[in-house]
Amino acid sequence: MKIKILGTRGEIKPSAPYHSKYSGILIDNKIMIDIGEKEFLKYKPQVIFITHLHPDHAFFTRDKKHFYEIKIPTYAPEKYENNFVQILKKPKTFLGYKITPIPTEHSLKVKSQAYLIEKGKQKILYTGDMFWIKKQYQKKIPKLSLVITEGSYINKGGRIIKTKNSKPYGHTGIPNLINLFKPYTKSILLMHFGSWFYNYGAKKARNKLKQLGKENNINIIIGYDGMDLDLSHITD
Ligand SMILES: [Zn+2]
Ligand SMILES: [Zn+2]
Repeated sequence: MKIKILGTRGEIKPSAPYHSKYSGILIDNKIMIDIGEKEFLKYKPQVIFITHLHPDHAFFTRDKKHFYEIKIPTYAPEKYENNFVQILKKPKTFLGYKITPIPTEHSLKVKSQAYLIEKGKQKILYTGDMFWIKKQYQKKIPKLSLVITEGSYINKGGRIIKTKNSKPYGHTGIPNLINLFKPYTKSILLMHFGSWFYNYGAKKARNKLKQLGKENNINIIIGYDGMDLDLSHITD
C-alpha cells in the first residue's frame, strides 16, 4: 500500500507549514479516508470513508453549499442529510481492500469509527479522533503494519470532558494512544495535531514525539501535509 497523508492539522486555529490542512489520507490513489478539505477531491478517489462528521474530517459539514459536489460513493458511521452518505457498519470489500469499521469513543453528538484496511499481508488502522476503543471492538484488531492516529494532546490523559451524567467525550493523549496500540503494531503515524504542536514549534514537537517513541520502543512517524509513505518499507 502507498499512503499519502493529505492533512495533519486538528480542529484548531494555529497553523504551520506542512501542518495546515485538515485530516485526510489517500491509499493507492483510490481510497480516501476523511476529507477535511474540499481540495482533496482533486485526487479523484473512487471511494471515501469518513471517521465522523466533524468538519475537520468532513469538509461538507462546514460548507454545505459544496455538499452535492461529491459524486463519489461516501461512507460514514451514520446518516447525513438524506442519503448523501451511506452507512458502513460491517466489513466489506471495496476495490480489493477489506474495510472493517471499528467503533471509537469520541463525541456525544456524532458517531465515530476507525477503519481497518487490509490488502494481502498489509493491514493498517486509521482511527480519526478518539479517546477509547471498547474492549469488544479491540478484539477485532489484528497485528497491524501501521496505525495512523491523532495527536491532539501530548499530555497523558489528553482532554476528556464529562457531562453532568458522567458521559465522557473528547480526545485522549498521545501516551495513552501509544499504550493502546503498542500490542498491535511496531509503527504509529501521528497526525491531526493540536495546539501543543504549534506552541512547541514543529521541530521541538517532533523531537518530543521521537523521544516518546524511544521510551516505548516503537517507531513513531510524524505525519505532515503531503507526506508519501510506502508500506513495503515497514516490515511486519
Ligand atoms: Zn478532528
Ligand atoms: Zn472530532
